[in-house]
Parts: sequence; structure tokens; C-alpha cells
Amino acid sequence: MRIPFNKCVPVGNEINYVSEVVSTGEFGASGTYKSRCETWLKDHFDAADAVMTQSCTAALEMAAMLANIGPGDEVILPSFTFSSTANAFALRGSKLVFVDIDPVTLNIDPTQVEKALSEKTRVIVPVNYAGQPCDIAAIRDKANKVSKDILIIEDSAQALMAYENNKPVGSQSDLATISFHNTKNIACGEGGALIVNNEKFRKRSYILSEKGTNRKAFFLGEIDKYSWVDIGTSAIPSELTSALLLAQLEKAKEITEKRREAWDMYYDAFEDLERTGSVKRPQIAENVYNNAHMFYLLINSNETRNKLIRSLKEKGISAPFHYIPLHSAPAGLKLGEAIGDMSVTNRISQTLIRLPLWYGVDQYIPEIVDSIRDFFASN
Ligand SMILES: *Cc1c(COP(=O)(O)O)cnc(C)c1O
Repeated sequence: MRIPFNKCVPVGNEINYVSEVVSTGEFGASGTYKSRCETWLKDHFDAADAVMTQSCTAALEMAAMLANIGPGDEVILPSFTFSSTANAFALRGSKLVFVDIDPVTLNIDPTQVEKALSEKTRVIVPVNYAGQPCDIAAIRDKANKVSKDILIIEDSAQALMAYENNKPVGSQSDLATISFHNTKNIACGEGGALIVNNEKFRKRSYILSEKGTNRKAFFLGEIDKYSWVDIGTSAIPSELTSALLLAQLEKAKEITEKRREAWDMYYDAFEDLERTGSVKRPQIAENVYNNAHMFYLLINSNETRNKLIRSLKEKGISAPFHYIPLHSAPAGLKLGEAIGDMSVTNRISQTLIRLPLWYGVDQYIPEIVDSIRDFFASN
């Protein structure tokens, strides 16, 4: 595509840090770049700790292990999300309970969560879609009425650098997961992190990431030999990944500001199309600092949305749709159950279109906007 949907742009020390790792030969997983990334994340979230992982998927899988769930347990999550959100919990044998989203934030709807809660509920997984904060306080309030032990694990893959009431989105749950995948704001190709907000999970999170060994405690000098003590996985990325990521994290503010400028350009440009009823723009609450992960439009019908995608594609502009609801996907039907009619999820899935958004996309925005205006002038 001439104008890609997404593009990773080096903005700081990416090449210097990676070449330093290559020239010193210290590729191994637990080097200084990894710990510098973890310190950055821990400070940013004011968390008990942060653990670097090879993906957000891996972080979600670790979170599901930390939750100690299994067959017979239920996990409540939105249907409007990526397969990884569901897989992590399905892998532990627990049942997935899909609920609908709020039509404004496109995030899990706390009143739907309330309907889905049962004696078997062990975890609720809010997903911060497009970096918009979920109403964690309302969800916790509803969960507490059933049991104070229900965990909230936030899939915050898209939300790094977003804030609500000046607090980082992802800091209000027990555990949160971040993605540094190519398509995310701060990216290193494949990478992720588990944010340990609840101190209770800190030590075990190290063990799970270290293949079930207490290797980290050994290196911290807390024990004199390390051994296999728990289940676990190989979650830690190579130093090459962490070096690339640290350079991006150091520029996180600047990257976010650039994306916000592009987001605002789109937002302002589509004001009139919203007034005439052709599109709906995202709504950001006053107390939210938008990380501009995504700029989407909601179109009136599935047919028009699909036609718009095709028309942009013909002009070399990549503007994709997003999630196919999990509750009606083949694996979702097998592994889960939907509570409620899922009408918002179904409608949003059919009518949402995402526009190109990356560091430096500004120069193309007038052309993208004109192409969309032209489309609506004749459709
Ligand atoms: C990107 C994304 C993931 C997966 O992230 P990876 O780092 O690719 O594993 C999971 N959940 C959501 C909501 C995402 O946007």
C-alpha cells in the first residue's frame, strides 16, 4: 500500500542501542536493556514491578497462570477484542463468558459484567480499546458484591501513555498487559510487558517468566541456589528486543504527542461529515489523556463501510476494519458463552473503519481526508 495503515519509525537511539548489543555479543535475555525497560515501566505505572515479555499474548498467559484458574472457573471478557485476550484463559481450561461493550467507549460495559457474574467468576478482563480507559472502579464495585477475590486483569495492549485523571491507564487493576507489537504506539516488532500492580503477584511473576525457577531471587542474592519451584514459561525477550524498545520508551512522550497531532487533524477534519450524519467520530472524556493509538470512524451501514474500505484501497490507502466478534467465532462458540444480545459488539464490528496513524503520517492526512469526503459526496 502506498499509504500504510501502520509504520514503525525509529525516533531516537534504536540503532545505537541495538548495535551496542550486537557488538558486545550480550544477546541473552536478562541484560541491562531489559532491566532498564522494566524500570521505565515500573516507574511509569507506579507498579509493584514490571516484567518484560516476548508479547502481550505471553503477558496475558502469565497473568492467567498467576490467577491460578482452571476448569470450572469463569472469566468475563468483551467479545470485541483480539483472540489473545481469550486464548490466555482458555489455555488454563477455564470457561469464557463474553459480554457486550459500551457504544461510546467501545469498552466492556460494567452493567453487562454485572449480569455475567456468577459464583464461578474468578477473573474479569477489561480491554482498553484504542487506549480508552475501562471503568475499573465500577467493575470492581460489581465484582466485590460477588467476591472480593475476583481479579481484574486489564488487557492494556493499546493503552500505553494514555491517562485518566492523570493516572496511567493500566495502573488501576491487579495486573495489566502491554503490547509492543509493530502495530502499537511504542513498538519493537514483537514484545510486551506484564505490569504487576498488586504486590501479591510480584515474586511469582518472576518465577513464571523464568521457566518456573527462582533464578531471579538467586541473582538478587536472596537464595544461594536456584531450582524448579513452580509452573512457568520462557517469556523474556532477547536483549536485541529490549534495546530497540528502550530507545522507543525514551521517546514515548514525543511519539505520543506526534500521534495526538495526527489524531486531532483527523478529528477536526471530520466534524462536518459527522454533522451531516455520514460518520461518527470517537469520543474522549474530559478527564482522559488520549494516547492516540487509533483513529476510527463509525459508518452507518456495513455495506457503506466495506465500500469505503475498497474505495480507499483503490487509492493506495490502507484503512482496515477491526475485530470479528469472538463470541461468534468458531473457537468462541466452542470455548465460551455470550451473556446478553451482543448488539453493540455486532454493530461496531460491522461499521468501524480505522485510518492510517503513525509517526509522520501527517503529510498524508489531507489526501486521506479528501478521499473520504469524495467517497461520501457520491455515496
Ligand atoms: C495487540 C493486542 C494484543 C496482542 O499483542 P501481542 O503483543 O501481539 O501479543 C492483545 N490484545 C489486544 C487488545 C491487542 O490490541
